[in-house]
Amino acid sequence: MSIAILSLGSNLGQREEHIATALALLSERAGDVLSVSSPYYSEAMGYISKHEFCNVCAKLSTELKPLDLLRITQNIELDMGRVKDAKGSISDRIIDVDILFYDDITLISETLTLPHPRWSERPFVTEPLKELV
Ligand code: AMP
Repeated sequence: MSIAILSLGSNLGQREEHIATALALLSERAGDVLSVSSPYYSEAMGYISKHEFCNVCAKLSTELKPLDLLRITQNIELDMGRVKDAKGSISDRIIDVDILFYDDITLISETLTLPHPRWSERPFVTEPLKELV
């Protein structure tokens, strides 16, 4: 059994509901959601948007290997109606699920980098993360 720390965010529609739906789907498909931070609200970072983000961090216990977990989180994004951005671009989204940490694994592959390469630059990650540790 492994522990993965995830960041979930939404800036369209009923943001808290989208995050709750993604957490429920993670429970069904990926493992046990052990804890969830309070929501953190912030302006879009890296691009201009009139839609404010809501983000949480969550702790998941899982038997999935990192790449299998990534496949599940990406399927959850797609099943919830997220339209993938063109490579290198950022835009408003119904749901975004990033894997911040997976145990103490360090990994750099084409599709997955662990720990997440930008986690420490993002207050919408570092602030809710404080509640989980
Ligand atoms: P986004 O959903 O816009 O945050 O970006 C997802 C892209 O980042 C996908 O192409 C993933 O393969 C890639 N990626 C690399 N490392 C990670 C990670 N730790 N968690 C989630 N996606 C990752």
